[in-house]
Amino acid sequence: MGTPAGRAPLAEVDPDIASLIQKEERREADKLRLIASENYASRAVLEASGSCLTNKYSEGYAKKRYYEGQQIIDEVEELAKARLRALFGKPLSDPNELHVNVQPYSGSPANLAVYLAFLKPNETVMGLGLPAGGHLTHGHTVSITGKYFHSVPYGVDKTTHRIDLEEVRKLAREHRPKLIWCGTTAYPRTLDFAAFREIADEVGAILAADIAHISGLVAAGVHPSPVGIADVITSTTHKTLRGPRGGMILCKPAHAAAIDRAVFPGLQGGPHNHTTAGIAVAAREASEPTFVDYAKRVVSNAKALAEALVSRGFSLVTGGTDNHLLLVDMTPKNIGGKPYAQALDRAGIVCNYNAIPFDPRKPMDPSGIRIGTPAISSRGMGAEEMKRLAAWMDEVAKSQDPAVLDRIAAEVKEMCAGFPAPGLSV
Ligand SMILES: *Cc1c(COP(=O)(O)O)cnc(C)c1O
Repeated sequence: MGTPAGRAPLAEVDPDIASLIQKEERREADKLRLIASENYASRAVLEASGSCLTNKYSEGYAKKRYYEGQQIIDEVEELAKARLRALFGKPLSDPNELHVNVQPYSGSPANLAVYLAFLKPNETVMGLGLPAGGHLTHGHTVSITGKYFHSVPYGVDKTTHRIDLEEVRKLAREHRPKLIWCGTTAYPRTLDFAAFREIADEVGAILAADIAHISGLVAAGVHPSPVGIADVITSTTHKTLRGPRGGMILCKPAHAAAIDRAVFPGLQGGPHNHTTAGIAVAAREASEPTFVDYAKRVVSNAKALAEALVSRGFSLVTGGTDNHLLLVDMTPKNIGGKPYAQALDRAGIVCNYNAIPFDPRKPMDPSGIRIGTPAISSRGMGAEEMKRLAAWMDEVAKSQDPAVLDRIAAEVKEMCAGFPAPGLSV
């Protein structure tokens, strides 16, 4: 009797990939990860999503599957849904009034399912334009959502850089969209779901809230919830919610059948059951008081960092932040967003270059950077660390000398060592 194939550990079977994973762990441990859409999934989430559940096909929904052997999978998916219903259903008198679909492969497919559920090709959709902080899937020209549907983007106010609700109303009256998106990917302020509801009602549009970035903040009650207001809510599960890479849709019961049909069989085949299990674990973790502490810290850290940066002469879009992210206009510091982000990366501070509203520069070489506090808050960093971070960012804005950047990277690494990251073994 030999050892059956497929039972040896990764390091033995594929030392190349094992070593790359180890290096990525090291990178995630040693750097200040400030990409606003990233986080550290817990060890428990990683275990569930790296499990044998990846082996199972289960097209369909619980009790209505197209394959046998669903005894366990049905329980996993129903548990994930029940936990999300409890977590996000809080604004409702009866959380059962919230329908949940956990099968979208990620945030973009979740949004596509909304189009498929409510729109025919070439019908009109409105969303925040990409250059103003919206997402590709809200009707941007290069996205399928801008090619197969008629897209009317709205923007932000020229001086305040906040969403211009009067413009939204005016465009909605003029273009009578079938669907209005309220959701952002690079916007530092609270979203007014109720105001969007009024506008959608005026023109008979479906209101979709895309809370991909802020779902962890919504779950913890530190950002207003669109539940009970929007017809349908989409989200990723891996940003502030801190689950595995995946997507979900929450909606009113009236839309449940249309949404479920759009996800399967409309758009996808078998659900990723290992991801569903990871989402269930994340939903459980997000219902703990420690998650509320984390979410509050995300916001207080963003505010502390904003204050420290402003006092050092940085210019923030809208002047500050209400949520987990800051958009920094680097124009007053005389450095473009891209070279600055690259210099920061060498200094162990990882963010992304980003266009600012009405950016005079090109998208591949814009004026700003976007920084978010979810990942560093998951490590337990606080106000003191935000001050140090602002000082390093100031130093890098002044000098991109490799020796300076490498010295800062060493200091960053030393600080990071005091804040072990969730999920990592280093
Ligand atoms: C991240 C994001 C998405 C897309 O998520 P993916 O998982 O990358 O497909 C959709 N909408 C918004 C607002 C996002 O920020």
